[in-house]
Amino acid sequence: MKNKTPQILLIYTGGTIGMVREYDSGSLRAFNFNNLVQQIPELYQLDCTIHSVSFSKPIDSSNMNLSHWKQIASIIEKQYSDYDGFVVLHGSDTMSYTASALSFMLENLAKPVILTGSQLPIGDLRTDAKENLITSIQFASLREGGQAVIQEVCLYFENKLFRGNRTTKMNAEQFEAFDSPNYPALAYSGVHLSVQREFLLKKQSRKALKVHLKLDNRIGILKLFPGIHEQWVSALLQTPGLKALVLESYGAGNAPTEPWMIHALKEAVDRGLHIVNVTQCRGGSVLMGQYETSVELAQIPLIDGKDITTEAALAKLMYLLGSRVSSNSFKTIFEASLRGEMA
Ligand code: ASP
Repeated sequence: MKNKTPQILLIYTGGTIGMVREYDSGSLRAFNFNNLVQQIPELYQLDCTIHSVSFSKPIDSSNMNLSHWKQIASIIEKQYSDYDGFVVLHGSDTMSYTASALSFMLENLAKPVILTGSQLPIGDLRTDAKENLITSIQFASLREGGQAVIQEVCLYFENKLFRGNRTTKMNAEQFEAFDSPNYPALAYSGVHLSVQREFLLKKQSRKALKVHLKLDNRIGILKLFPGIHEQWVSALLQTPGLKALVLESYGAGNAPTEPWMIHALKEAVDRGLHIVNVTQCRGGSVLMGQYETSVELAQIPLIDGKDITTEAALAKLMYLLGSRVSSNSFKTIFEASLRGEMA
């Protein structure tokens, strides 16, 4: 499929974007993506060739799970040499989780994989779907010197292109549904598309794409709150088979200093549970040791989640556990940035 215009593959997984409203009943129904270009004639104006594949049963992204992530990654793996870029159409609810997971699953990525969706269906009069779709395709088509300008997993929504594993959904109502609190936007869409090249992930090596399909979801989240109960914390830490946990702590990585809390966390880490300290604040970073309330967490030691999002921390844990990283090096590897997901 060698052709001068960029070849773009759309992967439709479901979500609001792929719905059209029936004129008579007002109800929403799934859109036939095989006829995509006919139904959105604006796509004819783009300087690229578009093909699409669809999940046989498009899903609301609340139903996204590991098998769907594997399906998306496998499609990209199979079609990698035939296409210059990939646009994944996805419900917005779990888009940041999928973007984070794909970023770890697709090692040595040298082509753009852009996730997008919309708050209103593609057939709605005031839809944000067309702009999100068209601009995502344009970003996926950008090339320079025979190479893709964007070589990472991104999320495009409401005029901004973000690094996918830095995003979080922060609004269920506004068109501006996503934010990347700890990393600048990679590009903006205004009158022109402006790419902030200094923030793009540079391809680290010339190695071929390596797709990791083994993920391990024997993990969990513990979110702290004032008044948290000892029984609840111990029950969670004793969950049979649990391999790793994201601890959503306060502020710069702080937790209650009550002896039962520190003891429960230490006992779990000594048993081999990997516990990552991530802040429950939307922006900013864990800085263990800055306050007295995090000194003992550093001594246990918990894994330093730095400025990673909870979404990316979960995906990274699934990826590292799936890759059978040894217990001895787990903390060191987690604390290193693998795909630009942390400082
Ligand atoms: N519930 C929908 C989903 O995530 C919302 C959306 O598409 O934006 O699939």
